[in-house]
Amino acid sequence: MIEVRDLHFHYPQGEFRLEIPEFSVAVGERVAVIGPSGSGKTTLLNLIAGIFTPITGSLMVNGVGVHEFGDRERRDFRITTIGFVFQDFELLDYLNVLDNILHPYRITGALTLDKTVRERAERLAGEMGIGGMLRRRSTDLSQGEKQRAAICRALLTQPKLLLADEATGNLDPSNKTRILDLLFRSVAEHEATFLAVTHDYELLPRFDRVVDFRGFRADTA
Ligand code: ADP
Ligand code: MG
Repeated sequence: MIEVRDLHFHYPQGEFRLEIPEFSVAVGERVAVIGPSGSGKTTLLNLIAGIFTPITGSLMVNGVGVHEFGDRERRDFRITTIGFVFQDFELLDYLNVLDNILHPYRITGALTLDKTVRERAERLAGEMGIGGMLRRRSTDLSQGEKQRAAICRALLTQPKLLLADEATGNLDPSNKTRILDLLFRSVAEHEATFLAVTHDYELLPRFDRVVDFRGFRADTA
């Protein structure tokens, strides 16, 4: 599902360099990524999602070279294939919760927003415990509620690849377990691949494999 080779990336500003000689994730695999803050975990997820482009190297997702796409194709590919739970949620302040969850369907012609999708959105929100908040502005939610709205948005498209950046970081213990169960259930139902960045070592046994980001950095110092 993901194949990274000799990837090199840096931001236009700053000293940070990301070098990944080899990293791959098999179809259906559930992989946790750990590593110190600032090591480039979020950067890697953004590269995989095609939000950033590698300087050199190749990056294949679902059999296609994301880096070879034009901007528009890359965005359509991301929206239809990948669910991304961002570390800082990236909800749109001017939309209510339901419209945030439905947003992927409104920004690409590659997806059709119909009754089934709306019903799925409401069901997901209910399962996430935010079913009663759909008409609220997203700015009126707590951090944990925003996080759950962001998870609903990522799952709504039934993505083949789910990327989660600290997706349970703002949830209390009981919500955390419930929402993780839901994430894993959704991944299993859609035979999806799951790549999750986490600082929560308690969660690691739930994954097939744990990748420590320090491994990538060992030869770049
Ligand atoms: P992590 O998710 O592992 O905490 P990040 O991928 O967010 O790490 O960041 C890796 C490094 O890149 C950090 O040193 C961070 O300061 C830097 N960085 C992140 N975003 C930018 C940016 N837009 N411009 C310049 N440097 C950035
Ligand atoms: Mg991060």
